[in-house]
Formats: sequence, structure tokens, C-alpha cells
Amino acid sequence: SQVEELKALDQKHYLHPATSPKKHAEQGPKIIFSGGNGITVRDPNGKSYIDGVSMLWNVNLGHGRKELADAASEQMMKIAYSSSFAGYSNEPAIRLAEKLASLTPGNLNTVFYTSGGSESNDTAFKLARFYWQMQNQPKKKKIISLKQGYHGVTIAAGTATTLTGFHKFAGTHIGDVYHAKPHLTRCELGDKDDPDYKGCIRDIVEKEGPETVAAVILEPVQGSGGVYIPPEGYLKAVRQLCDEYHILFIADEVICGFGRTGRMFGVDHWGVIPDIMCVAKGITSGYVPLGGVLLNQAIHQTLVQYDQVLAHGFTYSGHPTACAVALKTLEILERDQVVAHVKRMEKELNAGLNYLEKKHRIVTKTRNIGLMGAFELYADPDNDTPFDPSLKAGLDVVEECFQRGLLLRALGAADGKNVVAIAPPLIIDKSEIGRMIDIIDDAIHAFETKIGI
Ligand code: PLP
Repeated sequence: SQVEELKALDQKHYLHPATSPKKHAEQGPKIIFSGGNGITVRDPNGKSYIDGVSMLWNVNLGHGRKELADAASEQMMKIAYSSSFAGYSNEPAIRLAEKLASLTPGNLNTVFYTSGGSESNDTAFKLARFYWQMQNQPKKKKIISLKQGYHGVTIAAGTATTLTGFHKFAGTHIGDVYHAKPHLTRCELGDKDDPDYKGCIRDIVEKEGPETVAAVILEPVQGSGGVYIPPEGYLKAVRQLCDEYHILFIADEVICGFGRTGRMFGVDHWGVIPDIMCVAKGITSGYVPLGGVLLNQAIHQTLVQYDQVLAHGFTYSGHPTACAVALKTLEILERDQVVAHVKRMEKELNAGLNYLEKKHRIVTKTRNIGLMGAFELYADPDNDTPFDPSLKAGLDVVEECFQRGLLLRALGAADGKNVVAIAPPLIIDKSEIGRMIDIIDDAIHAFETKIGI
């Protein structure tokens, strides 16, 4: 059949990201997607699946939206691509820059366009260093990221990424990147007597010397590391620390941005305004690749003093078609009041997760902020006893969900954790959330039966 032919060609010619090459060479692709509509996608045999993680946390407005396709097509027929180098510009990129300035908190009013999250974070590191050079502080080069953080896979972003597998891959590291302990509210406020002080951001800054630190980067809510919501006060404490020591605060909003958490941006939950904000994914609802780095006016004012060429930029910086799709995405977000809808659905997802936690002893630590959620599986939740790693509990439950027509993602397996992430398209409704929860309920039951509980 044609599907078999495609699978064979894939196995032979296609090296997949974040996939075991050996397993792939032996088994070929797990699924070939051939269509999608709303919160569901389907395979060539017509089997449909609920997209419980919006693919890679990005297809926020769901699949098959004609308005987004039309926006791309209209722009392509005008001019699909034009350069942004050497002062060339285009209308969608300009209009999107203004729109982003209006949506972001504070005065993050200037954008540098990229093609995705990793490029955005690399760009943020370079611009942060460049800013300090322009401020006559060239020693301020170090970047501090958090453990469990995911910032992408280019060499600099991959160095800031701390997830074991991604960080270690191919030994590709730059210097001057330090990994701090995350989410320790008290020590962030500077209490050296706190046993958690060692290794926290403040400890690293004080050891390295603030005059050497360019920026702290973090995800307002950590995503790929396992959906960790910071404790109240944490982001504010990081903001204060950065102010105290003249360090730039970079918020990686690649997942959180554009409504995922029930606010336009993750930082909005805590009223914190970063100096630099990195965006990607949801900016186009994943329909075309686009990323951006938003800079505050203090940084922008400094950079505009530079009278030579800014020697940074991608062929696809300011891609007109990508920017047109982003403009349409943001228009829909506002027109359909999607962020308010997410806030309402937050309660539904929360209720569903609570139901799973009550019903299944092995389900614990359920959490969600907006439509960014997770649950964890433990052999004995009361004593924090993890499952034997050989059971691959998280992966197994995700596989059981897959068999039942629901796509989810297992996180943390490399660190012996069994976190299952749920992040459906933001347009999901109450009954669809109920359907997801029913499938997960069945899937967990199947896993329990298999291991004899
Ligand atoms: N930052 C965060 C928080 C992410 O979740 C991701 C991707 O999952 C990235 C950066 C990297 O983005 P990209 O894969 O578009 O390079």
C-alpha cells in the first residue's frame, strides 16, 4: 500500500529529531499524519486522534483553520518571501512588530525575528552580550539557566537546556553557561542560611561575580522538563535579583506565550516584566515556523547607538508569509477571546486531573495552569516511591492512550520520572476535555491491569 511505501522510504531516507535512530531504522515511523481538523488529527487509514499536546505545544488554534491558510496564501501571492537584511522590510513583519509591542507587558517594544525557539534563545544570548559590550561591560558574558529547563537545541540554547539527554548530546557545549537550582523561593530572596541556597541563582551570581553575568534565562512555567509551575513570589524574586546585580532577565515564553497558560504570557501571572522575551511556537499556531526576541526600550536605545552593521540575522528573519500567519493568529486570539476561554477550560482540565488522581492510587502531583498540565505516576505516591524504570510507566500509559486515539507526551523518563504532559489546543471545549480524561482513565486502568494492581 502507499502507507507501507511511505514508511519504507521514511526508514531509509529520513533521520528524525528526538527519535531513536536505531528503533526508527528497524520500525519506521510510528504514525504518518495525513489530516487534521480542530483538536483532532488523522492517519492515512482514517483513524483519528485527539491532539492532547497540540503536537509540540504549538498548534494552539487547532488544525485545519482556513483563515490561517488563507492568510498564508494571500501573502504568498503578493510576495511570499523578501529579505530583511540591509534595511529591506515588508508590511506583515512591520505590522506584527507593532502588534507584539502592544501585547507584551512593559516596554518590550522591539522585536528581532527568528525562525523558532532555539534561534530566539541563541539570539537573546548574543544580544544580551552585545548590550553589555555597548555598555562597556564586555566581561558580562555568562548565562544562567535553570535545571529542568528546556531552551532548544542549537549549541548555545542547547547548553542552556539542562534536560540530560538534550544537554549531553554530541558534547556540544559553549562555555559561560551555568545551571542553577530552580524554584527555591526563600533562597532567591537571599537567605544564605537556607540549606537550599547552594546552587540557586543568587549563589551562582555571587560566586561568579555579577560583573561577569549577562543574563538569567528561564521558562515562566517549565514545559518539556515536566510542567513545573513556580511557587508564588519566585519570578518576582528573580526579577529583583537581576535588578540588584544588573543582570538581564530573559523569559523564554516559547511554550507559555500567546495564551497557553490562561494569560497572554506566562510572566503576566506574576506581574513580572523581563528585559528580553523569547517567543515562537504559538505565535503562528505552528502553521509556519516563526520566532522572535522582544527587547525592552533600555536595550533598544543602547543598540541604536551602534553605527555598524548588526552582524546577526537569519535568511528567514521577518519572513513575510510567517508574519502574515502570525498576525492572523493574534487576530483570532483576540477576536475569539481565546485567552479567556483558556482560563475557563483551566477549571475543566483541573477537575479532570483531580478525578484521575482520586480514582487511581498511582496518579499524583496533578497540576495545570491554563491548558498546560501534567500528572505523574508513582508506584507508591505516599512515600514518593517511583516505578521501576524498566516498566516505563509514563511511556506505557502514553502508548495506551495512543492506542485509544489520544496523543500525549511522557516527560522526564531519562531522569527516572514518569510525568505525562497534557496541553491540548486552546480551542478545546468542556466535553472534549472530558473525552480526553476518559481515555486517560482507561489507559491508566490498562497499565494497572498489566502490572497487576
Ligand atoms: N524554549 C522552550 C521553552 C521550548 O519548549 C522549546 C521547544 O520545545 C524551545 C525553546 C525550542 O524551540 P524550537 O524547537 O522552535 O527551536
